[in-house]
Amino acid sequence: MHGHKGCPPEGHPGGHPGGKPGGRPHGKGHPGADGPPKMKLEDGSPVCRLVAWEVTRSCNLACKHCRAEAHPEPYPGELSTEQAKALIDTFPEVGNPIIIFTGGEPMMRHDVYELIAYAKSKGLRCVMAPNGTLIDAESAKRMKEAGVERCSISIDAPEAAQHDEFRGEKGAFEASMRGIQHLKDAGIEFQLNTTVTKNNLHLFKDIFQLCERLGASAWHIFLLVPMGRAEELGAEVISAEEYEDVLNWFYDFQKTTNMQLKATCAPHYHRILRQRAKEDGIPVNFENFGLDAVSRGCLGGVGFCFISHRGQVQPCGYLELDCGNVLKTPFPEIWRKSQHFLNLRNPEVYEGKCGHCEYERVCGGCRARAESMKGHYLKEEPLCSYQPKKKPRK
Ligand code: SF4
Ligand code: SF4
Repeated sequence: MHGHKGCPPEGHPGGHPGGKPGGRPHGKGHPGADGPPKMKLEDGSPVCRLVAWEVTRSCNLACKHCRAEAHPEPYPGELSTEQAKALIDTFPEVGNPIIIFTGGEPMMRHDVYELIAYAKSKGLRCVMAPNGTLIDAESAKRMKEAGVERCSISIDAPEAAQHDEFRGEKGAFEASMRGIQHLKDAGIEFQLNTTVTKNNLHLFKDIFQLCERLGASAWHIFLLVPMGRAEELGAEVISAEEYEDVLNWFYDFQKTTNMQLKATCAPHYHRILRQRAKEDGIPVNFENFGLDAVSRGCLGGVGFCFISHRGQVQPCGYLELDCGNVLKTPFPEIWRKSQHFLNLRNPEVYEGKCGHCEYERVCGGCRARAESMKGHYLKEEPLCSYQPKKKPRK
């Protein structure tokens, strides 16, 4: 996985095609939204806002932080075109989710444009998360025709040598830059995604300037979840203190730009935002902070889910809990009834300090990091330095 398919909560590759936040202290994170989005389905289940769909696991790159540990050869068991279309038919039953066509490298799926056009015909908004290296003039044109609204491209350093080292492919940076140019030529919006590690923390301003120079619609930073190939990157995972610093920096930095910035897979940014806004005397409301004000840090299983190339539904790409398979159970039933999803929606069952934190409802901690670093997804977020003021539940 070259991108950040696990956790693109809101703002996401699909977010905000409708313009810049303009003048507000923080950008709105929702496409063309005029007000807070609808939160509940008729039966009280949360609306599904975003689905990351791994349409294939095959990939042409071998990135160090790949969740999927993808390779170029085809993986057995991928949904057929008919099965994929049948799945698309069910998406509108759980809201009007934005569909992120991801991988692997989604462009390596032969019928990907057919599926996007089909989803579009059902009224769904479609975005794509290719790694950028395969995009040429022809494929950019096909994306545009199929109805892709935005592409996210992962860039982890402002210069080729560092980025290529991280991506495990010489020439990946230049290829992505060419891909971006083709997207621009075809009139497709793009955003850059950057995974935060100890290696690139000091390059952040340069990466941001690259986003501005390229004309990106948004810049999303992602906090590494150490699993898959990323387990080998343990030493590159930033500490809880560095995490706190980077998110505080991000809060300040947002005020200096009109570009849409989003801290993703960094649930406690929602705590920091509230702490800092209180200090600044700014009310945390939709007008001032867009979706960050009405949303939650970790949306896995709450407003977002991941569907694997074989149809397994998970809270996110980094949290490989089997919540059901769309080939056996209709997707809306999984969304409404999976016990894992019900757990994730119930703060009462969270353990450790996340279980008695006054910010639990707006943050939630990263459940995938809890799973991979603490042994269970309901345990406390390992990379949060906050000590809740509320007493632990008995
Ligand atoms: S569990 Fe972690 S990686 Fe997954 S959606 Fe939540 S914050 Fe993102
Ligand atoms: S303790 Fe848990 S819920 Fe509270 S801010 Fe930290 S990660 Fe979020």
